[in-house]
Amino acid sequence: MYSTGRWSEEGYWHGAQPPHMPRNMAGETYWTTSMPSAVQKSMRRRSRGIISEIVGRFKDLLRSEAGAALVQRVVSRQSMDAHAKTAMLTLRLTLPGPPLSMCLDMVPDLTHRSALAALFTGDLWLARYAANFFARDLLPSRTWWREHQPLGEESSRVRVCLSCWRTRGNIYNEDEVHMLFQCERYGAARRDWLGEQSHSAAAPVAERLANLLSEQSANQWAALGKFLARVRQIRRCDRTRWENLQRRCVQDSFDVRRAIWRSKGKWVCRHGVFYETRVESCPCMEAVPDWTGAKFMPSLDRELRAIITVKIHSPSVQRLGILRATMKRNMWS
Ligand SMILES: [Zn+2]
Ligand SMILES: [Zn+2]
Repeated sequence: MYSTGRWSEEGYWHGAQPPHMPRNMAGETYWTTSMPSAVQKSMRRRSRGIISEIVGRFKDLLRSEAGAALVQRVVSRQSMDAHAKTAMLTLRLTLPGPPLSMCLDMVPDLTHRSALAALFTGDLWLARYAANFFARDLLPSRTWWREHQPLGEESSRVRVCLSCWRTRGNIYNEDEVHMLFQCERYGAARRDWLGEQSHSAAAPVAERLANLLSEQSANQWAALGKFLARVRQIRRCDRTRWENLQRRCVQDSFDVRRAIWRSKGKWVCRHGVFYETRVESCPCMEAVPDWTGAKFMPSLDRELRAIITVKIHSPSVQRLGILRATMKRNMWS
C-alpha cells in the first residue's frame, strides 16, 4: 500500500490527510490555527475517519497475505508428503465453504467441536497417518499380504483398518473417507448422523467428502461434530483393546518366554514343553505321555493369532510343530 494523496479508481482516498485540507500556491496541504475552530474540528474528525479507514484496509491486507501464506504452506506440505496430517485441512482451505474457524464455531457442544478439530488436525490416529504403531503384531502377516495383496506395498499393510481386518478379514486403507462413510464399526453412529443417506452410494465417496467439507449449514456441522465425538469414543476404546492384545502378543509370546526360560538354565524340549531340568527323553511322542516335571506348554491363541505359553494342561498338549503348521495354514505368521 502506498499513499499518493489522490483518489483511487475505486473511490478510495490514498492519503493520511483529508482531501479537503486547504492547499497553498504550490498545491501542498497545510494546517493553520487561524482557521475557524469549527472548521479545525471538522478537519480533525475527518482526518481521524480517514486514518482509521486506512489502518483498517492495511490490517485486512496483512491478514489476507498472512492467510494466503499459511494456506500455501499447508497445501505445499500436503503435496510433498501423502501421509502429512494436513489432508482434511488442505481440503477445507481449498474447497468453497465457510472459513475453518466458522465451521468450528458452528458446533456449540465443546466435546463435539474438539472432535471436529481432531478431524482437521489428523488427530484421530487413523492408520493413514499412525500406521497402527500401537498394534503392529495384530496386522495381516507378511505371508498373508504377499499371497492376497500381491500389488499392495508394505506401507499399505500397516495402514489397514484394524477393526475391519480383525472382525471380518477385510482390507481397507483406514483414511477419513473409510471412517466417515464406510467402516462398519461406526455404522450405528453413522445411521444416527446421516439417517437414510448413510448407505447412499449415489455419489462417489470423494465427492461426498468434498460436499461434507463445503457444507454451509450450521446444523450439518453440528451433526458432523456429534458423529465424530462418538467415533472418537469408539476409537479410544478400540485402541485400548488393541494395545492390550499387542502387549499380550509380546509378553506371552512363546519365543520370548522360551528364550527367558533357557537363559535361566532351564530346559525346553524341541516340542515346546518347559521343564525345570533336562529330561532325557521327553514324553511328547509317547502314546500315553507322563507329564511329570513339565511346567508350561505352547498353545495357539486364536484371538491373538499367535503361539503363546500357558501352564501345562495334560489333555491339551499340542506339539509346537503342529501349532506352527496351523499358523502357517491360516497365514498368521
Ligand atoms: Zn474399517
Ligand atoms: Zn518334547
